[in-house]
Amino acid sequence: MFGFFKKIYQQVTSKLQDLFGRSTIDESTLHELEKILLSADTGVSVTRSLLEKLKQGVRAGTITKGSDIKEALRRELTTLLNGPTFTPDASVYLLVGINGSGKTTFAAKLTAWLKGKKVLLVGADTFRAAAGEQLEAWGKKLAIPVFLGKENQDPASVVYQGCEAFKQGDYDVLIIDTAGRLQTKTNLMKELEKIRKTIQKQLGDRTVSTLLTIDALLGQNSFDQAKVFHESTSIDGIVLTKMDGTGKGGIVFAIHDTFKIPIAFVSFGEQPDQLALFDKSAYIESILETR
Ligand code: GDP
Repeated sequence: MFGFFKKIYQQVTSKLQDLFGRSTIDESTLHELEKILLSADTGVSVTRSLLEKLKQGVRAGTITKGSDIKEALRRELTTLLNGPTFTPDASVYLLVGINGSGKTTFAAKLTAWLKGKKVLLVGADTFRAAAGEQLEAWGKKLAIPVFLGKENQDPASVVYQGCEAFKQGDYDVLIIDTAGRLQTKTNLMKELEKIRKTIQKQLGDRTVSTLLTIDALLGQNSFDQAKVFHESTSIDGIVLTKMDGTGKGGIVFAIHDTFKIPIAFVSFGEQPDQLALFDKSAYIESILETR
């Protein structure tokens, strides 16, 4: 996993290494760092606050060379990711996120990641036939059962039936893929609330984790869409998808800063095993490339 995180940030790490290796630094070095962080999708607000801390260190004389910047960055990035860590111990995973953000692919990957557990996949996106077909194809590939609703069936009633199948089939984990239509917040809220109530009624004694998928390729553009889901229902963890395509891992910090929700998983490809549980310190060390 460590090697993978390194790859995500590769566009940035070589530039950072050059900077960390300098024996003297000045204002222009910090300006260079600012450009590197911004080019890595770290976001204006996070970059600004990091730079402010570093400038204070330069003024106070505690940061005088490249290696001091590295130490200060390690400290500040660690502080940025402070807060609860996501624990993947749920019996029910409810996946939400905009169409195309990688929900269905993640559902399949999560199944593979949970190896050894008996998993049932439920496709509650009844509005797009392709969504069900895609889930079914994954089910075949991974040899796991998939429960799909009928076209235009009420998603909550599919979830109800899925919960019934889950109880009867003696499964360990239920993964529910929902529809990611961009609709009004009120409608989305109602739909998700109904699904949640159904799960609560059917499987009230089970732990439920709601995960929001966010497409890292879209950078800051994905935030507004993701916010609609965040405001519509309570989210336990974020899944950053398509991290293989960016080389700009700064989005992790921007997302954490914006949503204040733990990053649960990082998805980096289209193969079932290209998924990693997010590990804060491994991620930071891979950016700083200290190993
Ligand atoms: P959904 O509409 O949210 O269910 O999104 P899908 O799972 O269908 O993914 C949309 C597209 O992105 C598909 O072509 C996937 O193969 C692709 N995709 C999903 N996750 C990843 C990823 O981590 N890396 C890459 N490169 N592609 C991905």
